[in-house]
Amino acid sequence: MMVIMKQGHSQQEIDDVLRRLEEVGLKGHTIVGVERTVVAVVGSIYPELGDELETMSGVGSTVRISVPHKLASREIKPEDTIVKVGSVEIGAGKTVIIAGPCAVESEEQIMETARAVKDAGANLLRGGAFKPRSSPYSFRGLGEEGLRLLAQASKETGLPFMTEVMSVREVDLVAKYADVLQIGTRNAQNFMLLEEVGRTGKPVLLKRGLASQIEDWLLAAEYILNIGNPNVILCERGIRTFETATRNTFDINAIPLVKQISHLPIVADPSHGTGKWTLVGPVSLAAIAAGADGVILEVHPNPDHALSDGAQSLNFRRFRELMEQARVVAEAVDRPLLSAATEPTPA
Ligand code: PEP
Ligand code: MN
Repeated sequence: MMVIMKQGHSQQEIDDVLRRLEEVGLKGHTIVGVERTVVAVVGSIYPELGDELETMSGVGSTVRISVPHKLASREIKPEDTIVKVGSVEIGAGKTVIIAGPCAVESEEQIMETARAVKDAGANLLRGGAFKPRSSPYSFRGLGEEGLRLLAQASKETGLPFMTEVMSVREVDLVAKYADVLQIGTRNAQNFMLLEEVGRTGKPVLLKRGLASQIEDWLLAAEYILNIGNPNVILCERGIRTFETATRNTFDINAIPLVKQISHLPIVADPSHGTGKWTLVGPVSLAAIAAGADGVILEVHPNPDHALSDGAQSLNFRRFRELMEQARVVAEAVDRPLLSAATEPTPA
């Protein structure tokens, strides 16, 4: 349920609503929008609640929210959410580029990659230190050493970084270093983990589960929002289908659909979405054209020798070429690359 406050309401009146909700075992989230302030009520709502709240001072009206993903829905918040990572704004109408290796492998590899993606115009760095691998015998990341190296690369280039956190046990450690906590596809419905990353208050990049329907995915986001962390970035990274010609099936539909039903920013991950570097460029451009707030790309100095996901990684030259194409498409759909906006304008 949404409690829509009257224009000119006071903070005291909101506090009274929140206290009343608490008394009846419900939780309220205050959402201050451009045109109105609402209190989103979550929990098992009883039939008389609306009438009760409408008698309270400062309350304009109450409306039932028709969808299960309440806090993530546009019904509750019509305006786009902008997630700030340092000076980078995700969801503010510009296309944000996030790039880096699948996994941090060595100091040289991450430093070289961070410099290359920065020079080509990336806004954020990515890299895995704790890697979820299908086989326990594959390279599983450098752990804390990987986090230290990411922090070093981030410091040198000025690019904030995101990295995956795989278990509740590592949330504090990863949050100590990372600017954005990434929840991978395999943990997309690990609800305890979602609440723990939510509690840090840091931005969370939530990948879509391998077999998650859009509603499952938005409900996963709901766990983070409900814990009181509004900084959620959704990431379409492909789903499992009957198709085996590609690693996953990138669901382009998800981008405009999610933008319609949710206020949260959504970024595309065509590297995992396709699994083949030759498809990464075209699908990135399609995602930008479809309205993605950003694109995440795996980039490696020498993909043939990568310890994970080499087949879908771009080398530096291919990344630079894609950035040029991305710039053109992003301009054409009036969502210019964020880096383009920060470049000095010619006199
Ligand atoms: C990754 O980003 O390297 C990764 C493991 O992603 P996903 O969880 O989407 O497979
Ligand atoms: Mn990867």
